[in-house]
Amino acid sequence: MKKLAVVTGANRGLGFETCRQLAQRDIQVILTSRDRVKGQTAVDKLQAEKLDVKYHPLDVTNPESIESLSQFISKEFGHLDILVNNAGILTDWVENPDGDIFKAKVDTLRETIETNVYGPLQLCQQLIPLMKVQNYGRVVNLSSSLGKLSSNMDFTVFPTYGITKTAVNAVTVLFANALKDTNILINSVNPGWVQTDMGGPHAIRTIAEGVDTIVWLATLPDGGPTGGFFQDKNLITW
Ligand code: NDP
Repeated sequence: MKKLAVVTGANRGLGFETCRQLAQRDIQVILTSRDRVKGQTAVDKLQAEKLDVKYHPLDVTNPESIESLSQFISKEFGHLDILVNNAGILTDWVENPDGDIFKAKVDTLRETIETNVYGPLQLCQQLIPLMKVQNYGRVVNLSSSLGKLSSNMDFTVFPTYGITKTAVNAVTVLFANALKDTNILINSVNPGWVQTDMGGPHAIRTIAEGVDTIVWLATLPDGGPTGGFFQDKNLITW
């Protein structure tokens, strides 16, 4: 039987390419986005490539939307194999381009944390029980080099974003600990600086390069790593 994957924030960028590459590996993919038209357009593109991809709406900041996705999967499929917590926002580059922590705004942090941390947290809470049904699961949380505590001694950019990506790493470790006696593996990934709308045109990686480790973590063999932080398929420090 085909494995079933959910990818959040998948109408563009890394999420969209993750859907494509998972589907190319014969995985059935539920591509989710908060905007129905953008999401359906993305699905149409992948279906035109003969890939097994379906659309379901999901705003990761809305608990009812998460609940509705969970109910849909439970009813239609009865279980889930793969979750890629990809949806993310970065807003402080506009209001705090110098990356000055003294100017970081709590309102920006609150808004960013809703998407980048509460979203993945609640998706794990709602969807991992559907992985327990078959004692199989792979969860990938999108973090960043700015989520590395060690990087924050070197970089001076995007402080509120960095705080949220550090926090999502904590979400990864806490779930990994709770799931350590299961075949459900959960890891964080730093995709590198990638040429998406968020990364901008000067980024050094193509989207395909950025997705490489995401897809690898989403398809880890049994007995693979859990509770880790990965870049280029290598474990990196927090
Ligand atoms: P993009 O800005 O290109 O895409 C972000 C996606 O997230 C969009 O589809 C967007 O939807 C979606 N999204 C935002 N908020 C929500 C929400 N509330 N509910 C559902 N979807 C939402 O970013 P990337 O593809 O570059 O980034 C993907 C992930 O990778 C993010 O978590 C990011 O932090 C991380 N990352 C990216 C790096 C890079 O260099 N690009 C570097 C390190 C990490 P919409 O179109 O509706 O806005």
